[in-house]
Amino acid sequence: MDHFLYRDGVLHAEDVPVPEIAAAVGTPFYVYSTATLLRHFRLFDEALEGTDHLVCYAMKAASNQAILKTLAQAGAGMDVVSGGEYLRAKAAGVPGDRIVFSGVGKTAAEIRLALEGGIRQFNVESEPEMEVLNATALSMGVIAPITIRVNPDVDAKTHAKIATGKSENKFGIPISRALDVYAMAAGLPGLDVIGIDVHIGSQLTELEPYELAYQKVAELTEMLRAEGHDIRRLDLGGGLGIPYARDNQAPPLPSEYGALVKRTLGHLDCEIEIEPGRLIAGNAGLMVSEVIYVKSGEDRDFLIIDGAMNDLIRPAMYDAYHDIVPVVEPDAGIEQAKYDIVGPVCESGDTFAKARVMPPVASGELVAFRSAGAYGAVMSSEYNSRPLIPEVLVHEDQFEVIRARPTFDEMINRDTIPSWL
Ligand SMILES: *Cc1c(COP(=O)(O)O)cnc(C)c1O
Repeated sequence: MDHFLYRDGVLHAEDVPVPEIAAAVGTPFYVYSTATLLRHFRLFDEALEGTDHLVCYAMKAASNQAILKTLAQAGAGMDVVSGGEYLRAKAAGVPGDRIVFSGVGKTAAEIRLALEGGIRQFNVESEPEMEVLNATALSMGVIAPITIRVNPDVDAKTHAKIATGKSENKFGIPISRALDVYAMAAGLPGLDVIGIDVHIGSQLTELEPYELAYQKVAELTEMLRAEGHDIRRLDLGGGLGIPYARDNQAPPLPSEYGALVKRTLGHLDCEIEIEPGRLIAGNAGLMVSEVIYVKSGEDRDFLIIDGAMNDLIRPAMYDAYHDIVPVVEPDAGIEQAKYDIVGPVCESGDTFAKARVMPPVASGELVAFRSAGAYGAVMSSEYNSRPLIPEVLVHEDQFEVIRARPTFDEMINRDTIPSWL
C-alpha cells in the first residue's frame, strides 16, 4: 500500500497534486511519501513485536538524509555499506549505536571512521577484514563488536545480480567454515564476537529461501554456543520483495516474514536485527517525467520522455519492470495505446519499457514511474551531462525539495583543467 492515489483524476502524493510539484521543481524528479515510508517501517517493527529487535533500514536503497531522519525518528537504525553512508547517517542524526556496518570491502579508514563515531556492530565478511578490524581497534584502544556474515549457500530465487547467498557469490564466509572462523575471531583481543549475520539477496518473492537460511543460522547458533561463543544477536539481513507490477502475485507480507523469523529463531533468545531497504523505500517513491515527443516508428510508437537511464537505471541494469502511469487520469473508456518508453540518452539500453500498453499520453503530459523509491535516485548519474534530478519529500499537504537539481554551471564547474592546458 502506498499514498500515491488519484483524486479527481489527478495523481496525488499524499495530499499534494503531483502536477503542483512538477510546476515547482521541473521534471524529471523523485517524490517520496512520508506516510508510506513510516507505514512500511512500522509493518516490520510490528512484525517482530514481542522480540527484542531493531529494524536497521538498509540506507543504500534511498539515502537522502530527510528519509533517514524520518525513519530514525520513528525508531529505525541504519545498515550502512560505506564510510560515506556511515557519515550520512550520522549527519542525519542517527546515533552510532543504531548503525550496523555491512559490506565485503571495508577499508581501514572506513573502519576507523566508524570506531571513532560509534557503531552498533560490524558485520564482518572475511578473515582478512577481521584482522584489519582487530588491528585498527587495538591501535585505538577500543574493542569492536562484530557479527560474522555467513553465506548459507541458499538460492534466493531472485535476479542473478541481486542474489548474494549462494556459494559463488562474494558475500560472507561459507557456513561450512564458520566454526573455524569464529574460533579465530575469539582469539583476536580487539573483537567482541556477539552474533551471526546473514543476507541472501534482494527482491525475494518467496519465504522458502529465508526459511532454509534461518534454519541454518539456528543450527549454527547452537553449535557456536556449544563451543563457548556468547551468540546473542542475529542480524537477518533484508531482501523482502515488493510488487512492481499491479498484476504481480504479491510477495509475502512483513507480518508473514516476522512470523517465520519467530518460528525459526525465536527459541534462541537472541536479539533480532533485520535490514530491509527496498520494502521500506520502494513503493514510497515515484519518478515523475514529462513526455517530450511521441514518435512513430516503423512498427511501434516511441514515447520519448525527459527521464532517462541515468536517472533510473533499474530497467537497463536488472531488466526491472516499473508501472508507468499518466499523472492525469484519462477519460473513462479511452482506447489504450502501446509504446516503447525511452529516454533521451544515446544508448538503446535507455529503454524503460517495450510494447507497454497504457492510456495514450501526449507531448507535455506527465507520467509517473511507480515503485521507484528504492535503488532509484541513489543509483543515478550525470551520464550525458544530465544533472542529477531533484528529490522531493511530501508530508500530508506539504512538500519540500530535499535535494535540489544542480545548475548546469554547478555540474560543469566540478571539472578542473590541469595546468598544462
Ligand atoms: C542491500 C542490502 C540490504 C537490503 O536489501 P533490500 O532488498 O533492499 O531489502 C540489507 N542488507 C545488506 C547487507 C545489503 O547489502
